[in-house]
Amino acid sequence: MPRRVPTYRKPFADAGRQLARAAYERRQQRLNDNAFYNGAKWRRLRLKFLMEHPLCCRCDKEGRPSAATVVDHVKPRRAHPDLEYDWDNLQALCARHHGEKRAEEKPRP
Ligand SMILES: [Zn+2]
Repeated sequence: MPRRVPTYRKPFADAGRQLARAAYERRQQRLNDNAFYNGAKWRRLRLKFLMEHPLCCRCDKEGRPSAATVVDHVKPRRAHPDLEYDWDNLQALCARHHGEKRAEEKPRP
């Protein structure tokens, strides 16, 4: 026999909706990213940039040049969408340094 009458609890009612909203926004962001990075304009710009800047700029500063594989937005694209095709906002990085930069940009909890 239950000790108390089951009651409807409001606090969790919104949680599902908030999670669904966050998932929806992440999905939209991902679709937007895919459209940008797969686009002909970015792919052309990226190739041209890599041909002019074949070395990772951070490795170069550290005195041991290595090939760049990533064209990075100095000011992140999500925060500065107006600079996404801006030549002066690009830098050539190796995979390791790009990973480090991404980690630096990640908001701390
Ligand atoms: Zn590097």
